[in-house]
Amino acid sequence: MNEELLSFLENSPTCFHAIANIRAILEGNGYHELNEAARWTLEEGGKYYTTRNGSSLIAFQIPTKQYEGFMIGASHCDSPAFKVKENPELVSGGYTRLNVEGYGGMLCAPWFDRPLSLAGRIVARNGDTMETRLVNFDRDLLMIPSLAIHMDRTANKGHEYNVQKELCPILGEESEKGILLKMLAEETGVPEEDILGQDLFLYARVKGSVWGRNGEFLSAGHLDDLQCTYGNLKGFLASSASKSVPVLAVFDNEEVGSMTKQGAFSTFLQDVLERISIACGRSEEERRAFPASSFMVSADNAHAIHPNYTEKADPVNRPLMNKGIVIKYSANQKYTTDAVSAAIFKQICTKANVPYQIFTNRSDMVGGSTLGNLSNVHVSLNTVDIGLAQLAMHSPYETAGTKDTQYLADAMKVFFSSSIQAKGSSYTLQ
Ligand code: ZN
Repeated sequence: MNEELLSFLENSPTCFHAIANIRAILEGNGYHELNEAARWTLEEGGKYYTTRNGSSLIAFQIPTKQYEGFMIGASHCDSPAFKVKENPELVSGGYTRLNVEGYGGMLCAPWFDRPLSLAGRIVARNGDTMETRLVNFDRDLLMIPSLAIHMDRTANKGHEYNVQKELCPILGEESEKGILLKMLAEETGVPEEDILGQDLFLYARVKGSVWGRNGEFLSAGHLDDLQCTYGNLKGFLASSASKSVPVLAVFDNEEVGSMTKQGAFSTFLQDVLERISIACGRSEEERRAFPASSFMVSADNAHAIHPNYTEKADPVNRPLMNKGIVIKYSANQKYTTDAVSAAIFKQICTKANVPYQIFTNRSDMVGGSTLGNLSNVHVSLNTVDIGLAQLAMHSPYETAGTKDTQYLADAMKVFFSSSIQAKGSSYTLQ
């Protein structure tokens, strides 16, 4: 599992690449692509997926057209990074640097002094058509060197990073403006004048690694949230038919608040669920009843307790890597978990023979948020927020436990193979 995960991470330097890789895995497992713009015809036993913007994806199976609800496993595929701006070259003083801005809230320090590369997508003109193509330079191309200690004796005493001044990476010696467009043309085989758009992100080239005295830990880029995405995907593929429709949802833009056409706060999930119901001939009343017999697992990585900063964790609920799936709670509902959704998820973990643990923020710390509560605005159903314990969240090189991805895959296999019957205030998991 860990070698597979590391190879998935290495091949997924951006959300566009992650979705392309998930598509390929789904296709290899008998899933058929549905075009959002076309009419959908769904068969019993059919396996399908659709994408939006090439950066969000929803896959599902139709066990029977008389299904009782939806069992949804959601995660996100974007990560904090630096995005290349338009007219990107900063040419001066003997160097060419790239003009970048932050996407999401990253730790800045770990981006220094390591080989970086560039990946994303371009839009290429082909006659009257504009085609999206993935691009990945996939070589050591850029660097953001630190300022020497001799020039800043306070460097180890805390530092506020200025992205515009300090984090624009060096591409090479001084050269002409437009050099990146030339490089893109060479890399993709598309003439410069036909490259009409680009979404390009920096990524760290450090290879993923399994480490620790007994290989307990694993470090790589984008563990948040591709580790959960991969665990959900493995569970989804291993699941067996139940009375409900298993739905795998992978969303872009969680790191910038999910409020985009393809984010968890968009109508993407709602649109897909509605279209499944319409294509299966379900009545308006049945469609309104589905949320009561449906459930969502919102999976996004959680903070493990850091041995050097134990005071940052709640005094009692202190997750550790390799100790199982983390159920996340927040009284103000930044995390959706409540007594009912926690109980249902604990029961799933018990059935899967997977350990679970609890995360809450310290009561004097705000903490993070995720996609569950935002998705609930459009698709309102019982939801639990969970994650896998990790360190260094939002660094370009994060650390997690080597047992936990398998735990998630095992629990999600049971989840996607289950259905929930709701009667008043009681819920039965089958
Ligand atoms: Zn996340």
